[in-house]
Amino acid sequence: MRDIGHFIGGNTVPGTSGRSGEVYEPMTGEVRARVALASKADLRAAVENAKAAQPAWAATNPQRRARVLMKFLDLVHQEYDSLAELLAREHGKTIPDAKGDIQRGLEVVEFACGVPHLMKGEFTEGAGPGIDMYSIRQPLGVVAGITPFNFPAMIPLWKAGPAIACGNAFILKPSERDPSVPMRLAELFLEAGLPPGIFNVVNGDKEAVDAILDDPDIQAVGFVGSSAIAEYIYGRAAANGKRVQCFGGAKNHMIIMPDADMDQAVDALIGAGYGSAGERCMAVSVAVPVGQATADRLIEKLVPRVESLKIGPSTDPTADYGPLVTRAHLDKVKAYVDLGVEEGAKLLVDGRGFKLQGYENGFYLGGCLFDEVTPDMRIYKDEIFGPVLSVVRAKDYAEALRLPSENEYGNGVAIFTRDGDAARDFASKVEVGMIGINVPIPVPLAYYTFGGWKRSGFGDLNQHGPDSFRFYTKTKTVTSRWPSGVKEGAEFSIPTMR
Ligand code: NAD
Repeated sequence: MRDIGHFIGGNTVPGTSGRSGEVYEPMTGEVRARVALASKADLRAAVENAKAAQPAWAATNPQRRARVLMKFLDLVHQEYDSLAELLAREHGKTIPDAKGDIQRGLEVVEFACGVPHLMKGEFTEGAGPGIDMYSIRQPLGVVAGITPFNFPAMIPLWKAGPAIACGNAFILKPSERDPSVPMRLAELFLEAGLPPGIFNVVNGDKEAVDAILDDPDIQAVGFVGSSAIAEYIYGRAAANGKRVQCFGGAKNHMIIMPDADMDQAVDALIGAGYGSAGERCMAVSVAVPVGQATADRLIEKLVPRVESLKIGPSTDPTADYGPLVTRAHLDKVKAYVDLGVEEGAKLLVDGRGFKLQGYENGFYLGGCLFDEVTPDMRIYKDEIFGPVLSVVRAKDYAEALRLPSENEYGNGVAIFTRDGDAARDFASKVEVGMIGINVPIPVPLAYYTFGGWKRSGFGDLNQHGPDSFRFYTKTKTVTSRWPSGVKEGAEFSIPTMR
């Protein structure tokens, strides 16, 4: 049995709490490791190391900081395959999907290599008589990221890449369910030349999180996870005076207009609804066909595709998706399927009885498909986070636009249509943060920002893209006048440009 500690000040340490959690291999259901759960003292040790290392890192010029990130990219590429397997075995997703998880994280690190440009300030010559004005961006100091289980490489890198590039020291509290990849990333950062103390990993649960939220030396907290925890973290960290951004859960709709290419729409739904066993914040969990005829055509094509999904162990590259992350989560998702039946939705494909030969203890669930789901049902309202797709039939476009707009979440949404007018109207009016037009999972690329609306996002700046450089820096504005430009005498009224 492997023991996973923390990565503090460039060293792997066991921690002092005496508490630990089990880390599963979802494809077999076996416990493969024990992860230390940090105490307040462990977190404090990480903060002290980060604080000591940060000023010299901030004083390192941005090109040199970028070169460390470039070297890190090289090192990750060299062990791409083994890292993807480690990730897949601990999370449950398939190896090709695990590679995507790593790649989407690296793309943000690539973007962060543009830090010399991205941190540039502004300058105005002659803003007033003899006056020049300029702004500079400075790092915040020690910052922290708290991340979910479902992207154990991508989301830590979305946070750490820009934060480190800006000259901050970073403390990561990854999910306690799959901590091995973040720990390996920490070693690779060190090998790439990042000074000890600039990237730390503190493993743990609520105790570690609360220690982060209350620590006076942590200037900013970035969180990704479920909405209830996002809201809690946003409130507590903000009350403690920190800069906070928290991204929460989702209920992503896909609208299928009567003129949509139905084969394309069904391909999109199968991949976006069931890929990674539905454990993605941008997974499509609600299909909204517009009009009864569209709905009937959709169901006719969708049912055989859901029935023939190939579910396999994470190491099977031909599997469509693998197991769920833990037995507890599997039980929760199954309970939602039971609930949907009780609520009166029509269960067209029931994956609850699925068993994989040779992997009987793995956390598998076959694809489930509900038709005739209505907005008052809990299976519509709650985020299920599993391979369960609900079809809500809309009578017209207006109703289809209203559904995602009135939903409490607002992460992603897609519309499938050939009608440019409808697509344009939808993109403009829908109350959701990320929109796909004939694209089912519209995750913006690294140089745009990522963020949901309503209960999918708390705080006012998005992740990655230019917003991340705003989030991880503070702006200083300097107004300067050299003695030759000074007017005689004291001025008692507020200076203006009149
Ligand atoms: P989670 O909320 O259970 O955990 C996220 C983090 O919070 C973990 O590090 C965990 O240790 C910590 N945590 C859990 N309970 C806590 C508590 N009571 N107090 C303090 N900290 C606590 O989320 P998860 O199950 O790991 O991840 C799945 C969720 O993340 C889904 O809701 C999914 O939609 C969401 N997600 C959102 C995005 C996004 O960008 N909006 C991206 C990925 C995942």
